Amino acid sequence: MNIYGVVRHTGGCYRDGLERWEIYVGKSQAKDLPYKEGGRVQVLLAVGDESYYGYTRATKGYENVWISPILYADENRRTTLARVLVDAEFERNQRVQLSFDGNQIRITHSDVSHHVGQPKKVSGGSPMAERVFGEVHGYPEWSSFASRRELSQAGVHTPTQAGISGSQSEGADSIVLSGGYEDDDDTGDTIVYTGHGGRDPVSGRQITHQMLVRGNKALALSRKLGLPVRVVRGSAHASPFSPRDGYRYDGLYRVEDHWKEQGQSGFDVWRFRLVKIPPQVAANPPDNGTVVRASVDSSRRTDLLTSRIIRDTQQTQRIKALYDYRCQICSLRLEGNAGPYAEAAHIRPLGKPHNGPDVFENLLCLCPNHHVLFDYGGVAIADDYSIIGESGRLAVNPNHKIDLRFIRYHRERYGFDASALQDLTN
Ligand SMILES: [Zn+2]
Repeated sequence: MNIYGVVRHTGGCYRDGLERWEIYVGKSQAKDLPYKEGGRVQVLLAVGDESYYGYTRATKGYENVWISPILYADENRRTTLARVLVDAEFERNQRVQLSFDGNQIRITHSDVSHHVGQPKKVSGGSPMAERVFGEVHGYPEWSSFASRRELSQAGVHTPTQAGISGSQSEGADSIVLSGGYEDDDDTGDTIVYTGHGGRDPVSGRQITHQMLVRGNKALALSRKLGLPVRVVRGSAHASPFSPRDGYRYDGLYRVEDHWKEQGQSGFDVWRFRLVKIPPQVAANPPDNGTVVRASVDSSRRTDLLTSRIIRDTQQTQRIKALYDYRCQICSLRLEGNAGPYAEAAHIRPLGKPHNGPDVFENLLCLCPNHHVLFDYGGVAIADDYSIIGESGRLAVNPNHKIDLRFIRYHRERYGFDASALQDLTN
């Protein structure tokens, strides 16, 4: 849902010299925007790669809904809408686009269509490259870097301060383990990584709960989407796997699990279990601090691995989006804290001996139960899309052309032939 608002100066300045700004949205187009007459409604505002808690406000008799001037990056980091907008190069009186989904509102420049991967300007004025998931070309596993700046320039881990590189809408592409959090647990191929937020900037101690927002949410999204995360270890990270000095890129990991628990400080922290994706090049890590130059062969293999992961993700994402994460058999839509969850099922399985193709016509969007039932022969689909083994009919979107040959292959494979069909439908 897209509507438009305007950046307004409400008079006066903050102590940092910035003008006080709000965003006004005319009520005529705000009917679906979360707001309450005479009250405030909490919303999550996304600007660029960051998200903030704020609220909308409305008063009877006034024609606008306001977006609050005070925002929170987390419980103890207060900022202003003005600061966030100025950093993202918005101007006073500018028209802005608000895209929203429930209580999440994304604010973008209305003159450019924002989409994933489009080069965008950051406050420093340098263009920000497309987010790269998987290995960065030219920097194979065990490449080392003297500083965060070098890591950033290489594109292996772009932010120079944050431990997590990612956004809530695209997922996380890399993390740095640098000893910042007391709760990180590193056994080499498995890392239990502590999310960000809730720490005192001076003492570095955990002083409040962490929330599943920003980088934490991005990592949860990477889990859901199956995206690979680059792991970088710094020398300050207390682990036998850390480099002696500087930073070292230690390969691709997948996020296997995420959960909230009480950290050593007594406050809630978000934890992420990352498991190493087996490297294509079998070798031992070199002495700390050595840059490994991969042979042409090995780097190409890694590129292939990476692009396969991404391609799979795109196909499966497309089918899930088409059905809005609803199961085509039972229409169940599961809502997790990283967004809705569904599984993409291949009708004719991939790999030997089935050799089903990885194409859209061979995919279904299913809930986990029906995915298992389908893969283990508990249900099948008839040519007219009625479900064999359950009542009902497969929901099929007009833009989803299912190839009947795959459905027939699946039926044959599980013994749902003509006679079995007869038994089941009688
Ligand atoms: Zn289902």
